[in-house]
Amino acid sequence: MSFTSLGLSASILKAVTEKGYETPSAIQAQAIPAVLEGKDVMAAAQTGTGKTAGFTLPLLEMLSKGNRAGAKQVRALVLTPTRELAAQVGESVETYGKYLPLRSAIVFGGVGITPQISKLSRGVDILVATPGRLLDLYNQKAMNFNQLEVLVLDEADRMLDMGFIHDIKKVLAVLPKQRQNLMFSATFSDEIRRLAKGLVNNPVEISV
Ligand code: AMP
Repeated sequence: MSFTSLGLSASILKAVTEKGYETPSAIQAQAIPAVLEGKDVMAAAQTGTGKTAGFTLPLLEMLSKGNRAGAKQVRALVLTPTRELAAQVGESVETYGKYLPLRSAIVFGGVGITPQISKLSRGVDILVATPGRLLDLYNQKAMNFNQLEVLVLDEADRMLDMGFIHDIKKVLAVLPKQRQNLMFSATFSDEIRRLAKGLVNNPVEISV
């Protein structure tokens, strides 16, 4: 198995090669083709398995095909439980997407909101966010989700543990119904399966 055979284009392969990756990890080999086919994905994968590239690489590939985000628009939203994880995922998006003309932004609480509003005003193709700050920004009309194509919930189990269920539901309520959903969690608990019921449609289930 090679990255080339997964359906990623040259600009992304170049960034992956520069990062020193030779072969896709198990989660990447399963998740990348499923995401590229437009399927909903529910994956059980711990940190360290390469799950971040498992969703950011196909996300970048898909978004590089369509029209770029218009003003105040977001095409893909990645929700993470903590600012550290948001920063880490956002950095991966920037690294793997460095040869693509896509715009990304990372937003979390505890820092000034004004630069985030200004960045969102131009539109971003991929927004990585923690739930509370995302809702603040949305309520201030910093962006809307009319152009949203994909939602990713990263570390969904940690989001539930941290009490983000109400925030997640509020976010889901303002997203277009027609969208692709990717959900990553360390484990599939009953609670996670309940959340998944209202979120993913006929998902490809991956466990590594
Ligand atoms: P993650 O599970 O997404 O937090 O990734 C864990 C670590 O594995 C990160 O430092 C990545 O840079 C690295 N990594 C991800 N995919 C690969 C790969 N295919 N080959 C080698 N290292 C990788």
